[in-house]
Amino acid sequence: MSVSLKAKIAEVFEEPGCDKNVAKSDKERKKGCTKQLNPGAAAGGCAFDGAKIALQPIADVAHLVHGPIACEGNSWDNRHSASSHSQIYRTGFTTDINELDVIYGGEKRLFKSIREILEKYDPPAVFVYQTCVTALVGDDIEAVCQRASEKFGKPIIPVNAPGFAGPKNLGNKLGAEALLDYVIGTMEPEFTTPYDINIIGEYNLVGELWQVKPLLDALGIRILSCISGDGRYEEVASAHRAKVNMMVCSKSMINIATKMEQRWGIPYFEGSFYGISDMSETLRMIAKLLVQTGAPADLLDRTERLIEVEEARAWKRIAEYKQKLAGKRVLLITGGVKSWSVVAALQEGGMEIVGTSVKKSTKEDKEKLKDILGDGADAHMIDDMTPREMYAMLRDARADIMLSGGRSQFVALKARMPWLDINQERHHAYAGYVGMVDLVREISRAIFNPVWQQVRIPAPWGEA
Ligand code: SF4
Repeated sequence: MSVSLKAKIAEVFEEPGCDKNVAKSDKERKKGCTKQLNPGAAAGGCAFDGAKIALQPIADVAHLVHGPIACEGNSWDNRHSASSHSQIYRTGFTTDINELDVIYGGEKRLFKSIREILEKYDPPAVFVYQTCVTALVGDDIEAVCQRASEKFGKPIIPVNAPGFAGPKNLGNKLGAEALLDYVIGTMEPEFTTPYDINIIGEYNLVGELWQVKPLLDALGIRILSCISGDGRYEEVASAHRAKVNMMVCSKSMINIATKMEQRWGIPYFEGSFYGISDMSETLRMIAKLLVQTGAPADLLDRTERLIEVEEARAWKRIAEYKQKLAGKRVLLITGGVKSWSVVAALQEGGMEIVGTSVKKSTKEDKEKLKDILGDGADAHMIDDMTPREMYAMLRDARADIMLSGGRSQFVALKARMPWLDINQERHHAYAGYVGMVDLVREISRAIFNPVWQQVRIPAPWGEA
């Protein structure tokens, strides 16, 4: 591991914006946040995967993976992050190194690949990702990127997060560090307004950003840069001129928010786009901070008026489902922040939460969840649930539907119970007021799908 990578990781482990991190002793902090894995348990994505997930939604740049082809294959666009402009981000570029590169080093091949991309596609920038093998053979991607930038006159950004550096979450942060070191603050926007904000940690999965953008447009609030969903290089490079930063309910790239506050004095807050009241609260926070940083005070009134209209419209549309769904019991198996933001949304739809996983949630996430669930919250918060326990819960009909990621879908299907995908691989967008209506509609469609009646009929050979 190069010294600079070691130093970078140590830097990322010092995070003033994370309460959990601040509460640790110096010794504990140095160890990072990685938990010892259980032998045999799936480890989740590597650091490279995390960096790629965080940055690939910047849609107009070429993302070049320096390493064996499988690294790119593993991480390629598995999240349906949508773009309204360029599609180059979805092209899988890799140096696909071979045995000779391992012996002699792959720097030349990397340099040639950058040149080929620039000649054929002419993107505004190329992001170069380090992987395990090329890091181990000692390829210096920073030096190659610097040389290529000088030679071709285009930003070539090294993303030094080889897989062995740690887990996916660390990779998110190392990806964010690459933006802080080489991108943010390197360009100036054509113009600025008192209504400019950045949205950080929003990946525009299935186009969720577009469910929120019309609300901001209606208030005259401009997304100067979204990091990184539907992103443009130029916008990210000029993000330092925003008045306010919003962290989208996730600590994955909190280092961007804290460092932008230190460097450019941009205040930030953590908000959520999931659920009606959370969406309204987020709009209020944005308006409040913009007014504090110099926007005209009438923004506050305009925001309240918009919230009133939008909430009324959403409630009206939810009402028809609310009757059908009232009292339906939901088992929610997801991670981190979604444990509270989605719980609030489901309660608004009249449903009862029989259990929600808090395995990946932070202390603050758990506190928020306790507030939302009220009395007896602890009984519904599940630290770790085995597939067997999930299956038993569904089979005994203690839950009417399970909302989870794709990996646990087969548990629900085996129990012949409805299931809805709410993790990053989902195919429906659930953000903002519109997204909440869509979520309730999809739950209703899943629960009342006639297929469940049919699959529960015993098979003729079973009866015999
Ligand atoms: S762990 Fe290393 S080799 Fe495996 S995908 Fe990640 S970067 Fe590639």
